[in-house]
Amino acid sequence: MHTVVLIPGDGIGPEVSTAVRRVLTAANAPIGFVERHAGEAALDRGLEDVLPSETVAAIREHHVALKGPCTTPVGRGFSSVNVALRKKLNLYAAVRPFRSLPGVKTRYEDVDLIVIRENTEGLYSGIENLITDGVVVSMKVATRGACHRISHWAFRYATHRRRAKITIFHKANIMKMSDGMLLDEARKVHERDYPNIDYSEVIVDAGHMRLVQNPKQFDIILCENLYGDIVSDLCAGLIGGLGVSPGANIGEEDAVFEAVHGSAPDIAGQGVANPLALLMSSVMLLNHLAETRHDEACRKAAERIRTAYDRALDDGQKTRDLGGELGTAAFTDSVIARLPAG
Ligand code: ATP
Repeated sequence: MHTVVLIPGDGIGPEVSTAVRRVLTAANAPIGFVERHAGEAALDRGLEDVLPSETVAAIREHHVALKGPCTTPVGRGFSSVNVALRKKLNLYAAVRPFRSLPGVKTRYEDVDLIVIRENTEGLYSGIENLITDGVVVSMKVATRGACHRISHWAFRYATHRRRAKITIFHKANIMKMSDGMLLDEARKVHERDYPNIDYSEVIVDAGHMRLVQNPKQFDIILCENLYGDIVSDLCAGLIGGLGVSPGANIGEEDAVFEAVHGSAPDIAGQGVANPLALLMSSVMLLNHLAETRHDEACRKAAERIRTAYDRALDDGQKTRDLGGELGTAAFTDSVIARLPAG
């Protein structure tokens, strides 16, 4: 059994976490959860902070977490608890796969994209200064170490996953020093260590246009933090939306798996949220455990869950965001009913 820290989060977080937990249990995934809290949920429980030290300590102890979206109340020290957690644990690589799903009708078929996003710097450093009344400076931070680290991580990931191509989305024509540094490091890593991976550079605005024209021309898209945030939602739109877009935040020691979506306050508490994005994130978590701890049982559980939700979608079992009528619990039942025998 692997111990995984479960952070249910806020808004739709608890609903989708409960659903995912049910599927993992039904699939006999070799996982035991310890529950910890962050965001508004932590304050509601009387904890000291939106990012309580006991939550961070639990992840450092067990190294793996499954996390629902967390809300950061204004004036609680952080601009975002999600961002703060990534920084605190040095989860420098965000990886977000976007694949077409059976039975989910979208503009394009067979989309298979992976966004790799630098997760610790850029404008997300949150350094903003009021220079004088009416003048604010917001700092975009880039360090050579982080540019090298994410470049190396992306090429290594591409090699392990047998992906042929990495395209960097950048704006080095304007941000010559910061985005230029990322290009510089990526070129060096490519030339020196991974010459067999096809590597190219596209200006971020043109890249977005080309993505909506023909997503199949890209494979892995590597970006600094803010572009990665924006292109992720565009890619989500290509495959059915935020309800089906999973993600992982990975560092040297720890990994936190979470959906791309936020807490979706507009539908929270109604029992209609799509649990697939977090469920797919849990499949990524199982595959991560399979790889890092060499546990075949995790790989098998991941495969069974993936088969089950593919079958459910193929059979027209869908939540509202995908044009169906099922609520969170009914969709979860339909996935569990389609789990292959273990
Ligand atoms: P954040 O700023 O945290 O990204 P946001 O409000 O911009 O939050 P989301 O909370 O992700 O973005 O919600 C964006 C839209 O997508 C909302 O209309 C929401 O209802 C919808 N949405 C997000 N996640 C899901 C889901 N799992 N199932 C169904 N709809 C979802």
